[in-house]
Amino acid sequence: MDYAENILETIGKTPLVKLNKLTAELPCLVLAKYETFNPGNSVKDRMALQMVEDAEADGRLRPGGTIIEGTSGNTGMGLALAAIVKGYRMICVMSDKQSKEKMDILRAVGSEVHVCPTDVAPDDPQSYYSTARRLAQEIPNSWYVNQYDNPSNTKAHYLSTGPEIWDQTDGKVTHFVVGVGTGGTISGVGGYLKEQNPKVKVWGVDTYGSVFKKYHETGIFDENEIYPYVTEGIGEDILPKNVDFNLIDGFTKVTDKDAAVYTQRLSKEEGMFLGNSAGAAIKGVLQLKEHFTKDDVVVVLFHDHGSRYVGKMYNDEWMRKMGYLN
Ligand code: PMP
Repeated sequence: MDYAENILETIGKTPLVKLNKLTAELPCLVLAKYETFNPGNSVKDRMALQMVEDAEADGRLRPGGTIIEGTSGNTGMGLALAAIVKGYRMICVMSDKQSKEKMDILRAVGSEVHVCPTDVAPDDPQSYYSTARRLAQEIPNSWYVNQYDNPSNTKAHYLSTGPEIWDQTDGKVTHFVVGVGTGGTISGVGGYLKEQNPKVKVWGVDTYGSVFKKYHETGIFDENEIYPYVTEGIGEDILPKNVDFNLIDGFTKVTDKDAAVYTQRLSKEEGMFLGNSAGAAIKGVLQLKEHFTKDDVVVVLFHDHGSRYVGKMYNDEWMRKMGYLN
């Protein structure tokens, strides 16, 4: 018999899938690391499990404990799966800009959900960063995961996602392009790939309203770069420890409109029903066209599944209301 001992054992070993239509204007092969095949439908299952197991190993997380995290949903899903299998209580703290589907899904896998306002500074007591920290102080035997600064996040991608991409391309990958939020994916995968071949180029996809691109180019943390935006999952108003700027060759910024439109296009033209950051990522690849030549093998990572966005990027009424459809 061939079976997994539990759902956590099915994390990873996701397929690499060629893009055919959307990338027709590019000279090179473009392959998508298709992370929705993970049991929680996102790449975040990988780092969630790594963070839990590392915390168990060094005693930060103990039997009967409570896991607390500020999460836009996908990390919460991964942590919730680990909490169920391993027997912990799970609390997710989210900002109110996240889709209702994401909150409902987290409750469906047994997590408690606290919703906080988006448009407050990170150090405001109401922010989701501050609320998660406060709950962790109040609740005995609890562990605040902090995916932004937790090194197990990057480690998960260095140990699994990066080696998978290297092996699946027979070491032929020349560029890695990915949306950046906590930075775990780009730093772990980028670090591994550059160790195998220092010539591999690593590009981050950023949003308008986020600090990454400007910081990478100038070393300046510019508060004028921070304003509310629609794209989910990428961009930050802080500099997470997991973003290793030295590994990153450059950032490209994608507008909210383009991210939403390309999310729909991936689904309708490639049959890839994916989340909003996948739309941003593929538009980012197209924006980088001038950097690619015919022998290049570009890997773009698609973080999560379309089901969490049916009320937004897959809803034409919402798209029209936002001015994204003509
Ligand atoms: N896309 C989605 C949908 C995400 O949930 C995240 C995580 N915030 C990212 C992209 C960015 O990944 P990372 O945090 O590893 O930079």
